[in-house]
Amino acid sequence: MKVIETVGEMKLLVDALKSAGGRIAFVPTMGFLHEGHLALVDEAKRRGGAVVVSIFVNPAQFGPSEDFEKYPRDMERDLRLCEERGVTVVFCPKREDLYPEGFQTYVNVEELTRGLCGAARPTHFRGVTTVCAKLFNIVRPDTAVFGEKDYQQLAVIRRMARDLDMNLEIVAHPTVREADGLAMSSRNKHLSPEERKQAPCLRASYLEAARRLEEGEGKVARLLEAARRVIEKQPDARIDYLGVYDAEDLTELDEVDRRAVYALAVFIGRTRLIDNGMLEP
Ligand code: AMP
Repeated sequence: MKVIETVGEMKLLVDALKSAGGRIAFVPTMGFLHEGHLALVDEAKRRGGAVVVSIFVNPAQFGPSEDFEKYPRDMERDLRLCEERGVTVVFCPKREDLYPEGFQTYVNVEELTRGLCGAARPTHFRGVTTVCAKLFNIVRPDTAVFGEKDYQQLAVIRRMARDLDMNLEIVAHPTVREADGLAMSSRNKHLSPEERKQAPCLRASYLEAARRLEEGEGKVARLLEAARRVIEKQPDARIDYLGVYDAEDLTELDEVDRRAVYALAVFIGRTRLIDNGMLEP
């Protein structure tokens, strides 16, 4: 496994891979890897060719009062996990290399980023799309694999790739969960043992909404009321947002009359967790 730390070296390696006719499957991450990330790596491996994983905690996607400094990091362990999983190249650039002095160009997906996580984190997706556009230009992958856990992010990246004629396939991978339903996330590390016990309420709230829908309740207000009750039972849970949205354009729905996504963000103590699940009429 190669570990590359500069944009220049990465571009040279990509040139070499491409001129030998190789294909590249890419998994962008912020590190502190868990089985969710590694499932994306396995998916990338299934595509054949070289698997490139990037590890970069992207300052541009954190707001001024968010957890950039406190975001968990463990490069040594990440590299070991990548090696064990058969990754070809880990790209871990330095902040100054990706955002040199004078940097001032951003990619912004206008509408899909307004609601859900974008409402509370107004510059978040601009940071995500900008870094992904840069990474796609550097790595030039044939496919890039993203997790459905970040449903809005996946929709935004797909839109960007389509709108800017990026020459790659965006592949989605289902959310990988702990045995009790909690979606795996690097941020789960911040949960105290007591908070960890409460954290599966995000998933439980979806299952409750899905159950009510199955029983014939199609009104979103009713479904959300039931879902909210599940979360509010937990003493340290505070809802940031929760809603039911059109699965494609993420507009809010009043009725589950088409393929929809239930999505939510909840603070458990000081840790903000997100999750989602599909609702079919
Ligand atoms: P992150 O390191 O949080 O930026 O995530 C990197 C990639 O891993 C993104 O495409 C995420 O959607 C994906 N990912 C994170 N957690 C999970 C999970 N539990 N299941 C599936 N994919 C995940």
